[in-house]
Amino acid sequence: MGKLNESSTLDTDWDLLILGAGASGLMCAATAGYQGLKVLVLDHSPKAAGKIRISGGGKCNFTNLQVTPEHYVCQNPHFVKSALSRYPSTAFIELVERHGLAYETRELGKLFCRDRASDLIQILRTECDWAQVAFSLNTSLESVEVAAGLYQLRTTSGNFRARQFVIATGALSFPKLKASDLGYRLAEQFGLRVLPTRPGLVPLVFTGKWQQRCADLAGLSLDVTVSAGGRCFTEAILFTHQGLSGPGILQASNYWFEGQPLVINLLPKQAVMNELKQLRQTAGNLSRWLQNYLPKRFVQQWLVWYPLAAEVANASDGELQAYAEQLSAWTLYPAATAGYDKAEVTLGGVDTDELSSKTFEVKKQPGLYFIGEVLDVTGHLGGFNFQWAWASGVACAQAVAQRVAEKNRKFNP
Ligand SMILES: Cc1cc2nc3c(=O)[nH]c(=O)nc-3n(C[C@H](O)[C@H](O)[C@H](O)COP(=O)(O)OP(=O)(O)OC[C@H]3O[C@@H](n4cnc5c(N)ncnc54)[C@H](O)[C@@H]3O)c2cc1C
Repeated sequence: MGKLNESSTLDTDWDLLILGAGASGLMCAATAGYQGLKVLVLDHSPKAAGKIRISGGGKCNFTNLQVTPEHYVCQNPHFVKSALSRYPSTAFIELVERHGLAYETRELGKLFCRDRASDLIQILRTECDWAQVAFSLNTSLESVEVAAGLYQLRTTSGNFRARQFVIATGALSFPKLKASDLGYRLAEQFGLRVLPTRPGLVPLVFTGKWQQRCADLAGLSLDVTVSAGGRCFTEAILFTHQGLSGPGILQASNYWFEGQPLVINLLPKQAVMNELKQLRQTAGNLSRWLQNYLPKRFVQQWLVWYPLAAEVANASDGELQAYAEQLSAWTLYPAATAGYDKAEVTLGGVDTDELSSKTFEVKKQPGLYFIGEVLDVTGHLGGFNFQWAWASGVACAQAVAQRVAEKNRKFNP
Protein backbone atom coordinates (compact mmCIF):
# COMPACT_ATOMS: atom_id res chain seq x y z
CA MET A 1 0.00 0.00 0.00
CA GLY A 2 1.41 3.41 -0.93
CA LYS A 3 2.50 4.91 2.38
CA LEU A 4 3.42 8.51 2.84
CA ASN A 5 7.18 8.53 2.54
CA GLU A 6 9.31 10.09 5.18
CA SER A 7 10.50 12.93 2.96
CA SER A 8 6.96 14.10 2.09
CA THR A 9 6.26 17.65 3.04
CA LEU A 10 3.57 17.24 5.65
CA ASP A 11 2.07 20.59 4.81
CA THR A 12 1.46 19.51 1.20
CA ASP A 13 -2.03 20.38 0.07
CA TRP A 14 -4.23 17.40 -0.69
CA ASP A 15 -7.47 17.37 -2.67
CA LEU A 16 -9.04 15.08 -0.11
CA LEU A 17 -8.21 13.90 3.39
CA ILE A 18 -10.00 10.78 4.65
CA LEU A 19 -9.91 9.89 8.33
CA GLY A 20 -10.36 6.12 8.71
CA ALA A 21 -8.79 3.37 6.57
CA GLY A 22 -11.70 0.97 7.08
CA ALA A 23 -14.22 -0.36 4.58
CA SER A 24 -15.87 2.94 3.64
CA GLY A 25 -12.63 4.99 3.81
CA LEU A 26 -10.75 2.67 1.41
CA MET A 27 -13.66 2.55 -1.04
CA CYS A 28 -13.99 6.34 -0.98
CA ALA A 29 -10.20 6.78 -1.39
CA ALA A 30 -9.88 4.45 -4.38
CA THR A 31 -12.90 5.97 -6.14
CA ALA A 32 -11.67 9.53 -5.61
CA GLY A 33 -8.11 8.58 -6.57
CA TYR A 34 -9.34 7.16 -9.87
CA GLN A 35 -10.98 10.52 -10.59
CA GLY A 36 -7.52 12.07 -10.43
CA LEU A 37 -7.75 13.46 -6.89
CA LYS A 38 -4.72 13.60 -4.62
CA VAL A 39 -5.98 11.58 -1.67
CA LEU A 40 -4.46 10.91 1.75
CA VAL A 41 -6.01 8.40 4.18
CA LEU A 42 -5.13 8.65 7.87
CA ASP A 43 -5.76 6.02 10.54
CA HIS A 44 -4.57 5.49 14.11
CA SER A 45 -4.32 1.76 13.52
CA PRO A 46 -1.09 0.26 12.14
CA LYS A 47 -3.16 -1.78 9.65
CA ALA A 48 -6.00 -0.84 7.33
CA ALA A 49 -9.39 -2.58 7.32
CA GLY A 50 -9.08 -4.46 10.61
CA LYS A 51 -12.79 -5.30 10.70
CA ILE A 52 -12.81 -6.81 7.23
CA ARG A 53 -10.08 -9.22 8.33
CA ILE A 54 -12.15 -10.76 11.14
CA SER A 55 -15.62 -10.31 9.65
CA GLY A 56 -17.88 -13.17 8.67
CA GLY A 57 -15.85 -15.65 10.71
CA GLY A 58 -12.69 -14.70 8.74
CA LYS A 59 -14.47 -15.00 5.36
CA CYS A 60 -16.16 -11.56 5.23
CA ASN A 61 -19.81 -11.51 4.19
CA PHE A 62 -19.01 -8.61 1.85
CA THR A 63 -22.43 -7.99 0.31
CA ASN A 64 -25.86 -9.47 -0.35
CA LEU A 65 -27.73 -10.26 -3.57
CA GLN A 66 -30.94 -8.62 -2.29
CA VAL A 67 -30.14 -5.24 -0.80
CA THR A 68 -33.15 -2.99 -0.15
CA PRO A 69 -33.64 0.09 2.06
CA GLU A 70 -35.75 -2.14 4.36
CA HIS A 71 -32.56 -3.93 5.37
CA TYR A 72 -31.39 -0.80 7.24
CA VAL A 73 -32.27 0.85 10.55
CA CYS A 74 -32.11 4.63 10.30
CA GLN A 75 -34.25 7.36 11.83
CA ASN A 76 -34.82 8.66 8.27
CA PRO A 77 -35.56 5.47 6.28
CA HIS A 78 -35.30 7.36 2.95
CA PHE A 79 -31.70 8.46 3.54
CA VAL A 80 -30.09 5.22 2.33
CA LYS A 81 -32.02 5.00 -0.95
CA SER A 82 -29.91 7.24 -3.18
CA ALA A 83 -26.47 5.76 -2.44
CA LEU A 84 -27.71 2.16 -2.44
CA SER A 85 -29.41 2.54 -5.79
CA ARG A 86 -26.40 4.25 -7.38
CA TYR A 87 -23.95 1.60 -6.14
CA PRO A 88 -25.85 -1.72 -5.94
CA SER A 89 -24.31 -4.98 -4.77
CA THR A 90 -23.86 -6.01 -8.44
CA ALA A 91 -21.34 -3.17 -8.83
CA PHE A 92 -19.25 -4.46 -5.95
CA ILE A 93 -19.52 -8.02 -7.26
CA GLU A 94 -18.20 -6.81 -10.64
CA LEU A 95 -15.28 -5.17 -8.86
CA VAL A 96 -14.25 -8.31 -6.96
CA GLU A 97 -14.76 -10.50 -10.04
CA ARG A 98 -12.42 -8.22 -12.02
CA HIS A 99 -9.80 -9.05 -9.39
CA GLY A 100 -10.59 -12.78 -9.60
CA LEU A 101 -11.86 -13.12 -6.01
CA ALA A 102 -13.09 -16.62 -5.24
CA TYR A 103 -16.42 -16.23 -3.44
CA GLU A 104 -19.48 -18.26 -2.52
CA THR A 105 -23.19 -17.53 -2.19
CA ARG A 106 -24.79 -18.74 1.00
CA GLU A 107 -28.36 -18.72 2.37
CA LEU A 108 -30.46 -15.56 2.04
CA GLY A 109 -28.22 -14.12 -0.71
CA LYS A 110 -25.13 -13.65 1.48
CA LEU A 111 -21.81 -13.50 -0.40
CA PHE A 112 -18.62 -14.58 1.38
CA CYS A 113 -14.97 -14.87 0.34
CA ARG A 114 -14.39 -18.55 -0.41
CA ASP A 115 -10.93 -18.61 1.19
CA ARG A 116 -10.15 -15.70 3.48
CA ALA A 117 -11.24 -12.11 4.14
CA SER A 118 -7.70 -10.86 3.59
CA ASP A 119 -8.22 -11.57 -0.16
CA LEU A 120 -10.79 -8.77 -0.16
CA ILE A 121 -8.46 -6.43 1.74
CA GLN A 122 -5.82 -7.13 -0.90
CA ILE A 123 -8.30 -6.07 -3.60
CA LEU A 124 -9.05 -2.79 -1.84
CA ARG A 125 -5.35 -2.16 -1.27
CA THR A 126 -4.61 -2.83 -4.94
CA GLU A 127 -7.40 -0.48 -5.98
CA CYS A 128 -5.92 2.22 -3.73
CA ASP A 129 -2.44 1.60 -5.14
CA TRP A 130 -3.67 1.85 -8.72
CA ALA A 131 -5.50 5.05 -7.81
CA GLN A 132 -2.28 6.40 -6.20
CA VAL A 133 -3.83 6.91 -2.78
CA ALA A 134 -1.36 7.83 -0.02
CA PHE A 135 -1.63 6.50 3.53
CA SER A 136 -0.55 7.69 6.91
CA LEU A 137 -1.26 4.81 9.30
CA ASN A 138 -0.34 4.77 12.99
CA THR A 139 -1.46 8.39 12.97
CA SER A 140 -3.62 9.93 15.68
CA LEU A 141 -5.57 13.11 15.17
CA GLU A 142 -4.81 15.93 17.61
CA SER A 143 -7.08 18.65 16.25
CA VAL A 144 -9.06 19.83 13.23
CA GLU A 145 -9.60 23.47 12.39
CA VAL A 146 -11.19 25.13 9.38
CA ALA A 147 -9.82 28.40 8.06
CA ALA A 148 -10.80 29.99 4.74
CA GLY A 149 -12.43 26.73 3.63
CA LEU A 150 -9.33 24.64 4.37
CA TYR A 151 -9.50 21.76 6.84
CA GLN A 152 -6.25 21.73 8.78
CA LEU A 153 -5.46 18.51 10.63
CA ARG A 154 -2.80 18.40 13.32
CA THR A 155 -1.75 14.79 13.86
CA THR A 156 1.00 12.76 15.47
CA SER A 157 2.51 12.44 11.95
CA GLY A 158 2.42 16.14 11.16
CA ASN A 159 -0.05 18.63 9.72
CA PHE A 160 -2.22 18.08 6.66
CA ARG A 161 -4.74 20.24 4.90
CA ALA A 162 -7.39 19.98 2.21
CA ARG A 163 -10.64 21.63 1.16
CA GLN A 164 -12.48 18.30 1.34
CA PHE A 165 -12.45 16.20 4.53
CA VAL A 166 -14.21 12.85 4.88
CA ILE A 167 -14.78 11.25 8.28
CA ALA A 168 -14.94 7.45 7.96
CA THR A 169 -13.96 6.44 11.47
CA GLY A 170 -16.70 3.84 11.97
CA ALA A 171 -18.44 3.30 15.27
CA LEU A 172 -18.00 1.85 18.75
CA SER A 173 -18.24 -1.91 18.20
CA PHE A 174 -15.19 -4.07 18.78
CA PRO A 175 -12.94 -1.59 20.62
CA LYS A 176 -10.13 -4.16 20.48
CA LEU A 177 -9.98 -3.40 16.72
CA LYS A 178 -9.33 0.28 17.48
CA ALA A 179 -12.95 1.40 17.23
CA SER A 180 -13.42 4.84 18.77
CA ASP A 181 -15.91 7.66 19.29
CA LEU A 182 -13.79 10.15 17.34
CA GLY A 183 -16.35 10.51 14.54
CA TYR A 184 -19.06 11.51 17.02
CA ARG A 185 -16.76 13.97 18.77
CA LEU A 186 -15.87 15.61 15.47
CA ALA A 187 -19.56 15.77 14.54
CA GLU A 188 -20.22 17.55 17.82
CA GLN A 189 -17.29 19.89 17.24
CA PHE A 190 -19.02 21.01 14.03
CA GLY A 191 -22.38 21.37 15.80
CA LEU A 192 -24.03 18.25 14.35
CA ARG A 193 -26.61 16.17 16.17
CA VAL A 194 -25.46 12.70 17.20
CA LEU A 195 -28.28 10.27 17.98
CA PRO A 196 -27.86 8.03 21.06
CA THR A 197 -25.82 4.92 20.27
CA ARG A 198 -26.29 1.30 21.40
CA PRO A 199 -24.79 -2.06 20.41
CA GLY A 200 -26.43 -3.83 17.43
CA LEU A 201 -26.18 -7.30 15.86
CA VAL A 202 -25.27 -8.46 19.34
CA PRO A 203 -26.04 -11.45 21.61
CA LEU A 204 -28.57 -10.90 24.41
CA VAL A 205 -27.84 -11.86 28.01
CA PHE A 206 -30.03 -12.92 30.92
CA THR A 207 -29.60 -12.93 34.67
CA GLY A 208 -30.80 -15.38 37.35
CA LYS A 209 -33.03 -18.32 36.44
CA TRP A 210 -33.01 -17.71 32.67
CA GLN A 211 -29.26 -17.32 32.48
CA GLN A 212 -28.91 -20.73 34.16
CA ARG A 213 -31.51 -22.26 31.86
CA CYS A 214 -29.72 -20.95 28.76
CA ALA A 215 -26.35 -22.09 30.13
CA ASP A 216 -27.76 -25.60 30.63
CA LEU A 217 -28.51 -25.72 26.90
CA ALA A 218 -25.34 -23.89 25.73
CA GLY A 219 -24.34 -24.88 22.21
CA LEU A 220 -27.85 -25.96 21.16
CA SER A 221 -29.50 -24.16 18.25
CA LEU A 222 -33.15 -23.94 17.13
CA ASP A 223 -34.70 -22.80 13.85
CA VAL A 224 -37.39 -20.37 14.96
CA THR A 225 -38.94 -16.97 14.31
CA VAL A 226 -37.77 -14.22 16.66
CA SER A 227 -39.61 -10.92 17.07
CA ALA A 228 -38.60 -7.69 18.77
CA GLY A 229 -39.79 -4.12 18.37
CA GLY A 230 -42.31 -5.10 15.69
CA ARG A 231 -39.83 -6.88 13.36
CA CYS A 232 -39.48 -10.65 13.02
CA PHE A 233 -36.73 -12.86 11.62
CA THR A 234 -36.89 -16.57 10.79
CA GLU A 235 -33.33 -17.67 11.49
CA ALA A 236 -31.47 -19.89 13.94
CA ILE A 237 -30.98 -18.97 17.59
CA LEU A 238 -28.22 -20.37 19.77
CA PHE A 239 -28.15 -20.94 23.55
CA THR A 240 -24.99 -19.60 25.20
CA HIS A 241 -23.61 -19.53 28.74
CA GLN A 242 -24.88 -15.95 29.12
CA GLY A 243 -28.13 -16.10 27.17
CA LEU A 244 -29.02 -16.24 23.49
CA SER A 245 -27.11 -15.61 20.27
CA GLY A 246 -27.19 -16.88 16.66
CA PRO A 247 -28.36 -15.02 13.55
CA GLY A 248 -32.02 -14.74 14.63
CA ILE A 249 -31.06 -13.08 17.93
CA LEU A 250 -28.46 -10.77 16.33
CA GLN A 251 -31.07 -9.59 13.82
CA ALA A 252 -33.69 -9.03 16.53
CA SER A 253 -31.16 -7.18 18.72
CA ASN A 254 -31.25 -4.24 16.26
CA TYR A 255 -34.89 -3.71 17.22
CA TRP A 256 -34.75 -4.70 20.92
CA PHE A 257 -34.57 -2.17 23.78
CA GLU A 258 -33.89 -2.92 27.45
CA GLY A 259 -37.10 -3.74 29.30
CA GLN A 260 -38.85 -4.87 26.10
CA PRO A 261 -39.85 -8.49 25.39
CA LEU A 262 -38.31 -10.89 22.92
CA VAL A 263 -40.93 -13.18 21.42
CA ILE A 264 -39.96 -16.56 19.94
CA ASN A 265 -42.19 -18.73 17.79
CA LEU A 266 -40.75 -22.21 18.33
CA LEU A 267 -42.89 -23.82 15.62
CA PRO A 268 -43.27 -21.16 12.91
CA LYS A 269 -44.13 -23.67 10.19
CA GLN A 270 -46.73 -25.67 12.13
CA ALA A 271 -50.46 -25.10 12.61
CA VAL A 272 -49.89 -25.72 16.32
CA MET A 273 -53.48 -25.66 17.62
CA ASN A 274 -54.66 -28.08 14.92
CA GLU A 275 -51.81 -30.47 15.66
CA LEU A 276 -52.45 -30.29 19.42
CA LYS A 277 -56.13 -31.13 18.87
CA GLN A 278 -55.14 -34.09 16.71
CA LEU A 279 -52.73 -35.20 19.43
CA ARG A 280 -55.60 -35.05 21.94
CA GLN A 281 -57.83 -37.11 19.65
CA THR A 282 -55.21 -39.83 19.24
CA ALA A 283 -54.10 -39.63 22.92
CA GLY A 284 -50.60 -38.93 21.59
CA ASN A 285 -47.46 -38.08 23.54
CA LEU A 286 -46.62 -34.36 23.84
CA SER A 287 -42.87 -34.89 24.22
CA ARG A 288 -42.66 -37.16 21.19
CA TRP A 289 -44.71 -34.69 19.13
CA LEU A 290 -42.44 -31.77 20.08
CA GLN A 291 -39.38 -33.84 19.22
CA ASN A 292 -40.63 -34.04 15.62
CA TYR A 293 -39.66 -30.39 15.34
CA LEU A 294 -37.27 -29.52 18.17
CA PRO A 295 -34.10 -31.15 19.59
CA LYS A 296 -34.73 -33.69 22.36
CA ARG A 297 -32.45 -31.87 24.83
CA PHE A 298 -34.53 -28.70 24.42
CA VAL A 299 -37.89 -30.53 24.62
CA GLN A 300 -36.88 -32.20 27.90
CA GLN A 301 -36.11 -28.82 29.47
CA TRP A 302 -39.12 -27.12 27.89
CA LEU A 303 -41.52 -29.63 29.47
CA VAL A 304 -39.93 -29.00 32.87
CA TRP A 305 -40.29 -25.22 32.43
CA TYR A 306 -43.78 -25.42 30.89
CA PRO A 307 -45.63 -28.63 31.76
CA LEU A 308 -49.11 -29.00 30.30
CA ALA A 309 -51.46 -28.91 33.30
CA ALA A 310 -53.44 -31.96 32.17
CA GLU A 311 -52.62 -35.01 30.06
CA VAL A 312 -53.07 -34.02 26.40
CA ALA A 313 -55.93 -36.49 26.10
CA ASN A 314 -57.83 -34.70 28.92
CA ALA A 315 -56.90 -31.10 28.09
CA SER A 316 -59.69 -28.62 27.38
CA ASP A 317 -59.73 -26.43 24.27
CA GLY A 318 -58.75 -23.50 26.50
CA GLU A 319 -55.74 -25.37 27.93
CA LEU A 320 -54.61 -26.42 24.45
CA GLN A 321 -55.01 -22.87 23.17
CA ALA A 322 -52.91 -21.49 26.04
CA TYR A 323 -50.23 -24.10 25.35
CA ALA A 324 -50.23 -23.37 21.60
CA GLU A 325 -49.67 -19.68 22.45
CA GLN A 326 -46.85 -20.60 24.82
CA LEU A 327 -45.13 -22.41 21.95
CA SER A 328 -45.73 -19.77 19.30
CA ALA A 329 -45.18 -16.69 21.45
CA TRP A 330 -42.55 -17.73 24.00
CA THR A 331 -41.89 -14.38 25.67
CA LEU A 332 -38.56 -13.65 27.34
CA TYR A 333 -37.10 -10.51 28.92
CA PRO A 334 -33.35 -10.31 28.31
CA ALA A 335 -31.44 -8.29 30.89
CA ALA A 336 -29.13 -6.52 28.42
CA THR A 337 -27.08 -6.89 25.26
CA ALA A 338 -23.60 -8.39 25.47
CA GLY A 339 -22.23 -4.87 24.82
CA TYR A 340 -19.91 -3.25 22.30
CA ASP A 341 -17.19 -5.88 22.87
CA LYS A 342 -19.43 -8.47 21.19
CA ALA A 343 -21.52 -6.25 18.89
CA GLU A 344 -20.92 -6.31 15.14
CA VAL A 345 -22.34 -2.83 14.69
CA THR A 346 -23.47 0.32 16.49
CA LEU A 347 -26.99 1.68 16.20
CA GLY A 348 -27.46 5.45 16.22
CA GLY A 349 -24.71 7.93 15.35
CA VAL A 350 -24.46 11.09 13.30
CA ASP A 351 -28.00 12.24 12.44
CA THR A 352 -28.51 11.76 8.70
CA ASP A 353 -30.72 14.87 8.60
CA GLU A 354 -27.48 16.83 8.91
CA LEU A 355 -26.20 15.51 5.54
CA SER A 356 -27.13 15.37 1.88
CA SER A 357 -28.12 11.78 1.03
CA LYS A 358 -26.59 12.24 -2.44
CA THR A 359 -23.17 13.63 -1.54
CA PHE A 360 -22.81 12.88 2.21
CA GLU A 361 -21.70 16.48 2.67
CA VAL A 362 -22.73 18.21 5.90
CA LYS A 363 -25.46 20.69 4.96
CA LYS A 364 -24.13 23.50 7.13
CA GLN A 365 -20.41 22.79 6.73
CA PRO A 366 -19.17 22.75 3.10
CA GLY A 367 -16.30 20.36 2.42
CA LEU A 368 -17.04 18.10 5.41
CA TYR A 369 -18.45 14.59 4.82
CA PHE A 370 -19.38 11.56 6.96
CA ILE A 371 -19.66 8.03 5.50
CA GLY A 372 -20.07 4.45 6.70
CA GLU A 373 -21.08 3.28 10.13
CA VAL A 374 -20.39 6.55 11.95
CA LEU A 375 -23.77 7.61 10.54
CA ASP A 376 -27.11 6.63 12.03
CA VAL A 377 -27.39 3.79 9.48
CA THR A 378 -27.22 0.14 10.57
CA GLY A 379 -27.77 -2.84 8.33
CA HIS A 380 -29.28 -6.21 9.07
CA LEU A 381 -27.01 -9.24 9.32
CA GLY A 382 -26.05 -10.57 5.88
CA GLY A 383 -23.49 -8.28 4.21
CA PHE A 384 -25.67 -5.16 4.37
CA ASN A 385 -23.26 -3.19 6.54
CA PHE A 386 -20.35 -3.62 4.16
CA GLN A 387 -22.64 -2.78 1.24
CA TRP A 388 -23.47 0.48 3.03
CA ALA A 389 -19.74 1.18 3.51
CA TRP A 390 -19.05 0.60 -0.22
CA ALA A 391 -22.09 2.57 -1.44
CA SER A 392 -21.63 5.57 0.86
CA GLY A 393 -17.88 5.66 0.10
CA VAL A 394 -18.46 5.69 -3.66
CA ALA A 395 -21.28 8.28 -3.57
CA CYS A 396 -19.18 10.60 -1.43
CA ALA A 397 -16.06 10.21 -3.60
CA GLN A 398 -18.02 11.02 -6.76
CA ALA A 399 -19.44 14.15 -5.13
CA VAL A 400 -16.01 15.25 -3.90
CA ALA A 401 -14.49 14.69 -7.36
CA GLN A 402 -17.22 16.81 -8.93
CA ARG A 403 -16.66 19.56 -6.36
CA VAL A 404 -12.89 19.58 -6.95
CA ALA A 405 -13.38 19.62 -10.74
CA GLU A 406 -15.77 22.59 -10.43
CA LYS A 407 -13.24 24.47 -8.28
CA ASN A 408 -10.43 23.72 -10.73
CA ARG A 409 -12.56 24.94 -13.65
CA LYS A 410 -13.28 28.14 -11.75
CA PHE A 411 -9.64 28.86 -11.06
CA ASN A 412 -8.24 27.54 -14.41
CA PRO A 413 -11.03 28.32 -16.91
C1 LIG B 1 -16.77 -8.97 14.42
C2 LIG B 1 -17.42 -8.22 13.29
C3 LIG B 1 -17.86 -8.94 12.18
C4 LIG B 1 -18.52 -8.25 11.14
N1 LIG B 1 -18.92 -8.98 10.06
C5 LIG B 1 -19.56 -8.33 9.04
C6 LIG B 1 -19.93 -9.04 7.86
O1 LIG B 1 -19.59 -10.22 7.68
N2 LIG B 1 -20.64 -8.35 6.91
C7 LIG B 1 -20.97 -7.03 7.05
O2 LIG B 1 -21.62 -6.46 6.15
N3 LIG B 1 -20.57 -6.32 8.13
C8 LIG B 1 -19.87 -6.93 9.11
N4 LIG B 1 -19.45 -6.23 10.20
C9 LIG B 1 -19.72 -4.76 10.23
C10 LIG B 1 -18.69 -4.02 9.34
O3 LIG B 1 -17.40 -4.43 9.71
C11 LIG B 1 -18.82 -2.51 9.53
O4 LIG B 1 -20.16 -2.11 9.37
C12 LIG B 1 -17.95 -1.76 8.51
O5 LIG B 1 -16.59 -2.13 8.67
C13 LIG B 1 -18.09 -0.26 8.71
O6 LIG B 1 -17.21 0.40 7.84
P1 LIG B 1 -16.61 1.84 8.25
O7 LIG B 1 -15.67 2.20 7.17
O8 LIG B 1 -17.71 2.75 8.58
O9 LIG B 1 -15.83 1.57 9.61
P2 LIG B 1 -14.60 0.59 9.89
O10 LIG B 1 -14.47 -0.42 8.82
O11 LIG B 1 -14.77 0.15 11.29
O12 LIG B 1 -13.34 1.55 9.77
C14 LIG B 1 -13.11 2.61 10.65
C15 LIG B 1 -11.64 2.97 10.61
O13 LIG B 1 -11.44 4.15 11.36
C16 LIG B 1 -10.32 4.02 12.18
N5 LIG B 1 -10.44 4.85 13.35
C17 LIG B 1 -11.34 4.70 14.36
N6 LIG B 1 -11.11 5.63 15.30
C18 LIG B 1 -10.05 6.38 14.87
C19 LIG B 1 -9.32 7.46 15.44
N7 LIG B 1 -9.63 7.93 16.67
N8 LIG B 1 -8.28 7.96 14.75
C20 LIG B 1 -7.93 7.45 13.53
N9 LIG B 1 -8.57 6.41 12.96
C21 LIG B 1 -9.63 5.88 13.63
C22 LIG B 1 -10.27 2.54 12.52
O14 LIG B 1 -8.95 2.12 12.88
C23 LIG B 1 -10.75 1.89 11.23
O15 LIG B 1 -9.69 1.58 10.36
C24 LIG B 1 -18.76 -6.85 11.23
C25 LIG B 1 -18.28 -6.15 12.33
C26 LIG B 1 -17.62 -6.81 13.35
C27 LIG B 1 -17.10 -6.02 14.53
